[in-house]
Amino acid sequence: MTKGTTSFGKRSKGKTHIRCRRCGRHSYHIRKKYCAACGFGRSKRIRRYSWANKKVNRVRIR
Ligand SMILES: [Zn+2]
Repeated sequence: MTKGTTSFGKRSKGKTHIRCRRCGRHSYHIRKKYCAACGFGRSKRIRRYSWANKKVNRVRIR
């Protein structure tokens, strides 16, 4: 076992981001308690920037 290819399969512990409740993207940081994509948990307003071309999807399922 090296630190390369073979051991990459074991990299599963401690996930940082889960699916965001507000934007539906997989960007909600569990420990920080906010979403990196839409700012959920950090601000009431949705985090949007002109340089961000991806749109924040407001509430899909759940
Ligand atoms: Zn979000």
